[in-house]
Amino acid sequence: MSKNWQPHSWRSHEARQLPTYRDAAALAAAERELSNYPPLVFAGEARDLTADLGRVAEGKAFLLQGGDCAESFAEFHPNNIRDTFRVLLQMAVVLTFASKMPVVKLGRMAGQFAKPRSADMEDIDGISLPSYRGDIINDIAFEETGREPDPQRMVKAYNQSAATLNLLRAFANGGYANLHQVNAWTHDFMDRSPWAKKYQETAARISEALAFMEACGVTPETVPQIKGTSFYTSHEALLLPYEQALTRQDSLTGGWYDTSGHFLWVGDRTRFEGSAHIEYLRGIGNPVGMKCGPSLESDVLLRLLDTLNPNHVSGRMTLITRYGHDKIEAHLPKLVRAVKESGHPVVWSCDPMHGNVIKTPNGYKTRPFERILAEVRGFFAVHRAEGTHGGGIHIEMTGQNVTECTGGAMDVTQMDLADRYHTHCDPRLNAGQSLELAFLLAEMLNQ
Ligand code: PEP
Ligand code: MN
Repeated sequence: MSKNWQPHSWRSHEARQLPTYRDAAALAAAERELSNYPPLVFAGEARDLTADLGRVAEGKAFLLQGGDCAESFAEFHPNNIRDTFRVLLQMAVVLTFASKMPVVKLGRMAGQFAKPRSADMEDIDGISLPSYRGDIINDIAFEETGREPDPQRMVKAYNQSAATLNLLRAFANGGYANLHQVNAWTHDFMDRSPWAKKYQETAARISEALAFMEACGVTPETVPQIKGTSFYTSHEALLLPYEQALTRQDSLTGGWYDTSGHFLWVGDRTRFEGSAHIEYLRGIGNPVGMKCGPSLESDVLLRLLDTLNPNHVSGRMTLITRYGHDKIEAHLPKLVRAVKESGHPVVWSCDPMHGNVIKTPNGYKTRPFERILAEVRGFFAVHRAEGTHGGGIHIEMTGQNVTECTGGAMDVTQMDLADRYHTHCDPRLNAGQSLELAFLLAEMLNQ
């Protein structure tokens, strides 16, 4: 267990990106309420994920992490959860086939609500209001009362997370995630896609492999991995009062776990040395992630790794790099070398989303598919050159047919963005773009 650590010890450290709640009594009441609520995940599940990620760190498995930039109260609907889950599973099947390795599936779901922002205030037409920080904190509408941080929103987000997780668990284990079914969706989807031809060969080979396995007696009835799957949840551990309220001591080991999700990560803006967010993550037993952007120096990274994973536990740390398509190959090698020399076991994962945001002339924040792909390519090129395992990807996506990122085989243009731009924060890959990325990644992994 971590030295001199308590679930509240982050409070004496510098905390950036936290809202200012004006009503201290209301905040304390919400924290008390949450601290009496049941855990959403269990310590044993978090340990299972650490073990799974340990295999990724050792080069024997692959990590697929994806979901909304920000979950919202407005988009809360079983069909949205189902569709995102389904696309993640379809991607995982393609990646399993290509990499010949197990794929660890991790949703940015059931808790991914709080957002860091570049400015505390937003100004429109001479009116200045607090920035939107995610539905767990305030309302997206540019309106005075809604923009005031409201602690009861944490309770609402908890309840939505509980219901989301309940459905995900049912999907993963209740028969919906049957491997044959997932493969059939991919074929059905491709039959309706103009780009089907490009990936038909891979899809046909997966079907053949499944038919072969079935003939050998590997069926949903005989092998549980065909019938169901393990699926984990994750979010940025940004809103520390919420995370603290869900921090519980494991009855089996006595260790502390954040029971709001299986995997928690620290964002690029809050991962500085001595930060409240690093202090919080240091003490929990869950596997944790850290975003690594252009401002991160190797010596700082190594000190942060020493703080977060002093015992070099394999699977405890995932480094999620997010440089931008034009910077990844210049920045990543020095970090990879430093980590390799230090002996720290880590999962290297590529977030090709956050370094590739552009603003279009018609005012939309978007990410061109080609740049996302270019960053993924650069990431694998660096790891191949350094002899390390490019272990995973971290993407913002949805199972809906939104128009938020441009490009891809279906070619969303800048003019199309206005059609179905629904995100509450950053632009996401739609279902078709996500699956296409998986097929392209499969080609890269086979090179
Ligand atoms: C995010 O993942 O939505 C995010 C804000 O990322 P980053 O911390 O890398 O900017
Ligand atoms: Mn984002």
